[in-house]
Amino acid sequence: MNALAATSRNFKQSAKLLGLDSKLEKSLLIPFREIKVECTIPKDDGTLASYVGFRVQHDNARGPMKGGIRYHQEVDPDEVNALAQLMTWKTAVANIPYGGAKGGIGCSPGDLSKSELERLTRVFTQKIHDLIGIHTDVPAPDMGTNSQTMAWILDEYSKFHGYSPAVVTGKPVDLGGSLGRDAATGRGVLFATEALLAEHGKGIAGQRFVIQGFGNVGSWAAQLIREAGGKVIAVSDVTGAIKNVNGLDIAQLMKHSSENRGIKGFHGGDAIDPSALLTEECDVLIPAALGGVINKDNANDIKAKYIIEAANHPTDPEADEILSKKGVLILPDILANSGGVTVSYFEWVQNIQGFMWDEEKVNAELRTYMTRAFGDVKQMCRSHNCDLRMGAFTLGVNRVARATVLRGWEA
Ligand code: GLU
Repeated sequence: MNALAATSRNFKQSAKLLGLDSKLEKSLLIPFREIKVECTIPKDDGTLASYVGFRVQHDNARGPMKGGIRYHQEVDPDEVNALAQLMTWKTAVANIPYGGAKGGIGCSPGDLSKSELERLTRVFTQKIHDLIGIHTDVPAPDMGTNSQTMAWILDEYSKFHGYSPAVVTGKPVDLGGSLGRDAATGRGVLFATEALLAEHGKGIAGQRFVIQGFGNVGSWAAQLIREAGGKVIAVSDVTGAIKNVNGLDIAQLMKHSSENRGIKGFHGGDAIDPSALLTEECDVLIPAALGGVINKDNANDIKAKYIIEAANHPTDPEADEILSKKGVLILPDILANSGGVTVSYFEWVQNIQGFMWDEEKVNAELRTYMTRAFGDVKQMCRSHNCDLRMGAFTLGVNRVARATVLRGWEA
């Protein structure tokens, strides 16, 4: 099922549980604005290359729209639309004063030089600068982008509107980025996992984890889980997969991965087939890469007791049903990976205040937000007698619906 169909299906199911008015339901689903732009740049060899860039601004009932910009060859309008919608529910679940948006450029960032990436980012910013802003839409990093990408957007945007650090989050710390933002999604995954395990009388220590993806989110999650006493027994990325039942040395794996642009060839474990990673024997499975990876073809073979969705929409609705019958608990993306956008919010607040928090404060606030969001989701699960995904969706959708009604959507 494609990302948009899956996300919309979850939304509609939650609208039904909430008994939402059908006109309001339709209005919440339709994006506020969809932007599609052509970005042509000279390549380093002097030839011209064209890329298509998207920004979908889904909803702004609760505040400025917020969400990452993804550089990936599979970026398409439906996917960006789904991810923008997820951001709307995610910021509401986290209870931060934002709506949702997402952007992307269909390109393979690994095949572009640094200066080509800079030109592409600047051209994209030139095309959308009038439609983003501190109080309208605030981009951030996502797959294939990082703090350097945000620095270029900030610089290009500032040529048109004056220096405005709060127009993007996930910036380098030297340009007003928040301490702790780089690790925030991974740290949020840790806090959310702790909250879920604690309910079952368990802690991180002693649990066996399998992590799909070793980018920003997966590698930070692995490192923090390891520090908390968890055993990370298998990891994969685009270059391969590696397993060690005694626990991988994550610090060494990070070093290897940054020196070799991937985990392939790491000697601290055995190479395994990446397609078998998700069905490895473990306690906690953390998909931290692409969407749709857990589906009806592999759901039956999953052996984990808990799935923590560090990626966006990694689980298809069909797989949700299969896993629920098997008794596997899934902590949904809009809760599990909300640590990134939550610290983005802290960054934006610091920029607006012209003040910088120390990292302890950032991490302590993040823990408070994640734990509170988990408790709020559990409350919805109890009152609507539903699973964690529907608990998170009903929580997010209900908050957005209330704001929409209060602002007077029918006038
Ligand atoms: N790209 C991240 C996400 O999917 C972070 C978004 C943000 O910080 O605005 O949640």
